[in-house]
Amino acid sequence: MINPFATAKGQLKAAAETAKLDSDKIAQLALPDRYVEVSIPVKMDNGKQKIFTGFRSQHNNARGPYKGGIRYHQDVNLDEVRALSFWMSFKNAVVNVPFGGGKGGIIVNPKELSAGELERLSRGFVKKIYTIIGPETDVPAPDVNTTGQIMGWMLDEYQKCSGNKSMATFTGKSLDNGGSQGREEATGFGGVYVFEEVLKNKIGGIAQGGSVALQGFGNVSTFFAKAAAKLGFKVVAVSDSKGGIFNSDGLNLEKVEAHKKATGALKDFVGAKNISNSELLELDVDVLVPAALENVLTEENADKIKAKLIVEMANGPTAPEADVIFNKKGIAVIPDILANSGGVCVSYYEWYQNMNNESWTKEQVLEKLSKQIKQAFVDVYALQKQYSTSFRTAAYILAAQRIIEAMPK
Ligand code: NAD
Repeated sequence: MINPFATAKGQLKAAAETAKLDSDKIAQLALPDRYVEVSIPVKMDNGKQKIFTGFRSQHNNARGPYKGGIRYHQDVNLDEVRALSFWMSFKNAVVNVPFGGGKGGIIVNPKELSAGELERLSRGFVKKIYTIIGPETDVPAPDVNTTGQIMGWMLDEYQKCSGNKSMATFTGKSLDNGGSQGREEATGFGGVYVFEEVLKNKIGGIAQGGSVALQGFGNVSTFFAKAAAKLGFKVVAVSDSKGGIFNSDGLNLEKVEAHKKATGALKDFVGAKNISNSELLELDVDVLVPAALENVLTEENADKIKAKLIVEMANGPTAPEADVIFNKKGIAVIPDILANSGGVCVSYYEWYQNMNNESWTKEQVLEKLSKQIKQAFVDVYALQKQYSTSFRTAAYILAAQRIIEAMPK
């Protein structure tokens, strides 16, 4: 079993050694500032009480309030949440937003809960953590299986518990409740803005018209897939938890979406072959985009990966042993902390708009995002060349330098 927190610390160690970073500061960054585990009693629809477990990890706030999503998943655990909070500090620093890193989660399969139970669970979580969050302290957001609606319930509960009426304590809210235009598209589109820079710099020898396979067909992967198709790429495979579909001539994404909506799954889409998630990862494509869960590229399958470029839209999809193999094989990996930082970038814009009573159009948001995330790529690319290292190590060097600079001397 891969320990995600050990992976995160290994990535920081590689960056510290490559760029000879301050070892005392690096030791501080290897641990979160604090983390809590809370028990959330929820009255279920059958009248019985069920107790859920939730976590919030606050990694580092040298550059600004802790910031990061809350995920609902049956496999959430403290180590995962701590690793994800660590990644958030680095992601925010790479894309240069004035936030630190945080992350939360609840052990739950939300599909097993009614809307009422989900609301009571979400409010119950906030009742347990409201004293440690706030617009200038810690600003949560949606993640896997959490939505704008859930953020709305959480914000309402936060306002009731704390008396603080600011809208800026949660981001990823719905538009009619203080959310930002463009947040929905932000992570997927942000990944494609980075991808545009990769193409411009001819990294991985990818040319327009190339093929793309995406693991996942949720928020991030659908927007990435649509934007990549618009750039002239052929999206040949997508998947969900039940399996994937493949057509070497490219998939009609609108029809795939309609099929998923109608049947609840991707499989058996007319005009495509059913494949497993592991077959999807090993397809002979130009670009592989893991956009579902972590640790899907491992020592076991890394040698079988045929893509020339991997764009990590999920958090932590590549195990360290797989990274070594990809480096040897010359497969370029655009790391998660750069590729998927569009979401947090627009979360920052939402927070900023809430704090300053502003409201930006989608065009304004996406234009700012494009500029900011492309600049992040340029900064990472410069260090990648300077140290002749991987994009991942270069991104960690950039982020660590920025965080260390902001830490108390
Ligand atoms: P989502 O819930 O909208 O979609 C997740 C997708 O993964 C779904 O298609 C689901 O069917 C699929 N999936 C679930 N279990 C799977 C399995 N075992 N095998 C294959 N596919 C599986 O979530 P999302 O918001 O699109 O997030 C996807 C990834 O991107 C996560 O790793 C998340 O942490 C990361 N991420 C999301 C954002 C964001 O803004 N939403 C930002 C940064 C990173």
